[in-house]
Amino acid sequence: MPTLFDKVSVLSGLGAIGSKALAKMDVRTVRDLLFHFPFRYEDYSKFKEIKDLQGGETVSLLAELVSIEARKSLKSRIMVTEAIVKDDTGELTVKWFNQPFLTKTLKPGQKLSLSGHVDVRQDLVIVNPRYEKIRDEDDETVHTGRIIPIYSRSGAVGEKRLRNAMRESLPAALRLVDRLPEHIRKAEQFLPLSDALQMIHFPETMEELDQAVARLKFDELFLHQLLFADVRKEQKTQVAHQIPVNEVLLKEFVAKLPFELTPAQKISAWDIVQDLAKEHPMNRMLEGDVGSGKTVVAAMAMYVVLEQGKQATYLAPTEILAKQQYVSLQNFLGVDKVALLTRTDCSIGGESCSRADLEERLRDGDSIVVIATHAILQDNWVFKNLAFVVVDEQHRFGVRQRHSLLSRSEIAPHLLSMSATPIPRSLSLTVYGDLDLSIINELPKGRKPIATQIVFDKSKAQMYDRVRTELDKGNRVYVVCPLISGKAGPGSAGDPSDKLGVTSVSETATMLRKTHLKDYSIAELNGRMKSDEKAKIMSDFKEGKTPVLISTTVVEVGLDVPEATVMLIEGAERFGLAQLHQLRGRVGRSDRPSYCFLRPGGFIAGKTLERLQAMVKSQNGFDLAELDLEFRGPGNVFGDAQSGFPDFNLATLADVPLMKKARDWATKLLDTDPNLEKFPLVREFILEAADDLHLE
Ligand code: ADP
Ligand code: MG
Repeated sequence: MPTLFDKVSVLSGLGAIGSKALAKMDVRTVRDLLFHFPFRYEDYSKFKEIKDLQGGETVSLLAELVSIEARKSLKSRIMVTEAIVKDDTGELTVKWFNQPFLTKTLKPGQKLSLSGHVDVRQDLVIVNPRYEKIRDEDDETVHTGRIIPIYSRSGAVGEKRLRNAMRESLPAALRLVDRLPEHIRKAEQFLPLSDALQMIHFPETMEELDQAVARLKFDELFLHQLLFADVRKEQKTQVAHQIPVNEVLLKEFVAKLPFELTPAQKISAWDIVQDLAKEHPMNRMLEGDVGSGKTVVAAMAMYVVLEQGKQATYLAPTEILAKQQYVSLQNFLGVDKVALLTRTDCSIGGESCSRADLEERLRDGDSIVVIATHAILQDNWVFKNLAFVVVDEQHRFGVRQRHSLLSRSEIAPHLLSMSATPIPRSLSLTVYGDLDLSIINELPKGRKPIATQIVFDKSKAQMYDRVRTELDKGNRVYVVCPLISGKAGPGSAGDPSDKLGVTSVSETATMLRKTHLKDYSIAELNGRMKSDEKAKIMSDFKEGKTPVLISTTVVEVGLDVPEATVMLIEGAERFGLAQLHQLRGRVGRSDRPSYCFLRPGGFIAGKTLERLQAMVKSQNGFDLAELDLEFRGPGNVFGDAQSGFPDFNLATLADVPLMKKARDWATKLLDTDPNLEKFPLVREFILEAADDLHLE
C-alpha cells in the first residue's frame, strides 16, 4: 500500500513519464495526488439490460463481445470500429471512432463493462462508449458503471491511467490526520477527511459527492477565515506610519486632474486618506465597477504618501495591467515618482534599469511608487519606508501573498485592496472579513450606456453587420468564449456536455476567419499562453493591427482599450451576472457608442433567459449582484465559473453560505482560544499554509 509521502512513481502504471507529467501540475507525492480533485464527473451509475435500453439515456451495461472490426468510413474517411455485444437479453451495436487499436485489445468472448449514451439510428447504438474489461460481474469497475471522475491532466498521463493511480492511492487517505476540530465536524455533520477524499474521487451517489465537496470546501474556507483573523489580529497590534491629512495638497492634486471626480470617488478618497492618518494600519477595500475610476482614487492616497517622503507599491494581477497602470500613475504622480517591476521589465522614471538599481533605491528609502506584479513576491525585496500597499483586483492574490508583502518593512504599511467584483454590502463581511469598505457605485459622467442585446441565431447576421461596421470605423471587437479549444479528450468523445453547443476560442476563430469576418485580422488569446506572447497579442489589439480578439475570460481583468466598442460573448448563459458585467466593462471606455452581444450557447428559457435579460436592463454592477442575490440566493451571485481564486482549490465566491459558516466557527474558535493551545492541529494547519507561501 502506498504511503502519503511516497512519490507518485511508486504507483503502478504511472512510471517516470507519468510522474513527470503530474509534477507539472504540482502533483509529486501520493498525498498531492489525493488532493488533485476531479474537475467534473460523468454519471454512469444506471445499469440496464440490453432489452430495456432506450434512446437518449446514459447507461452502463455488462456484456460479452461477440464480434469486432474496424473499417474506414466512406463518407468521412475516419476509422470506425464496430462491435456487437450481447447479454442474456439481447444484442447491441457499439461504435468507436478513431480507435482502430481496439480490435487488438478487445477480443470476442471478452466480458466488458460499457458506459455511454444510447443513440437511436436505424437501431439503438452506443457511440464511443467507455469500456473496461472485467473477469466477472462482481468486479469493481473504475472507468465505467459508476460515477466516474474526470481530472485535468497533462498530455502524458492518460485518463484511465490517472484514474487507476488514484484508485491505488486511496487507502493512503486513511493515514491523513484530520485537522478539523471534531466538535466542528460533528456539529456540521461533515464527513471525516478520509471518507471525504474517498467520495470526492469515487462517489457512489451524487449525494455522497455533495457531502464530500462540502467537507473539503469547508476546510479551505475555514483555513482562509483563520488566516484572515490572524492578519486582522496582527494588524490591530501594529503601529502604522501615521500620515497626516493634508487638504491643501489634495486640492492641488484634484485641481490638476483633466476631469471632475464623481461624488463617490471623493468620498472614497476621503475615507482612505483619513485611514492613512490613523495609528494602526489601514485595511480597506475599495470596490467599484469597472471604469468607475479606482486608479485615480488610489493615486490620491499615493500622492499624500509620497509627499511625506514615504514609499508605496501597487500590485497588479497581470503584466499587461502593470504596464498600463505604470503609464496612468506616471500621469497622475509624475514620471520620476513611478517605477515598474514585472518578470520581464524593470524601469524607473520612464527608463529601464537593472533590478539591482531599483532594489537599492528601495532599500535606501527613495520615495517612489513601485508598480509590480507577482514578481515582487518572489524575491525578498526590502523596503525602507513602505507606508502604503495597493492590491488591485485583490481576488487574484491569495491572502498569504498579500500578507507576505505587508511584512517587507519594519513598520507595517497601510493596505488598500481594490476589486471590480461588485459584492453586495450584506455579503462583504463574509467574503472579505472585517475590513472597512468604500464603494464607488457610479460611473463618471458622460459615459454612454453599453447597448446590450441577447442575440439568437435568427438575428446573428445583423449582429455581424454591426461588428463589421464598427471594425470599418477603426474600432476593436472582443469575442469571448467559454473554452480554449473545442477538442474533447480521447475518452470524452461521447460526453454529452461537449455537444451542448459550447463554443471554443479556436473553433470560433476558424469559423469567423472563413465567414463573417474573413476580411479582418483576428487574434486568439488564452490564459495558458506565455505572458510575453499575451502582451504582444494585446498590444497588437490595442494598436489596431489585429482589431478582433477572440479569447477566454482572460480579458476580464481591467484592461483599458478605449477603441474597443464591441463585446460579443458566446455561451453567455454559462457566465455569472457579475462576470458578464465585468466583461461588458471592457467596452464603452471612451465616448464612442459601444455594444455588448450576449449569444446563448443553445436554447434558453425561464430563469436563464431572465438572467440575461437583467444584463440588458441594468448597467450597474451592484444592482446586478443584488439582483442575483435576491433571485437565486447568496450561492449564485457570482455564477459557477469563478476562476483565479488562488486561496481555494474547490471553493469559489459562490460558496458564500459555507463561507459564512467557516467564518463563524473560526471566530468562535479564536475567541475561546486565541493562541489555539487546545487545537495544535489547527495551529499546524495555519503554519503550514504560511510555509507554503515561502515555497511559492
Ligand atoms: P477602474 O475602476 O476600472 O480601475 P480606471 O481607474 O481605470 O477604472 O478608470 C477608467 C478611466 O476613467 C480612466 O481612463 C480614467 O482616467 C477615467 N476616469 C476616472 N475618473 C474619472 C472621472 N471622474 N471623470 C472622467 N473620467 C474619469
Ligand atoms: Mg482598474
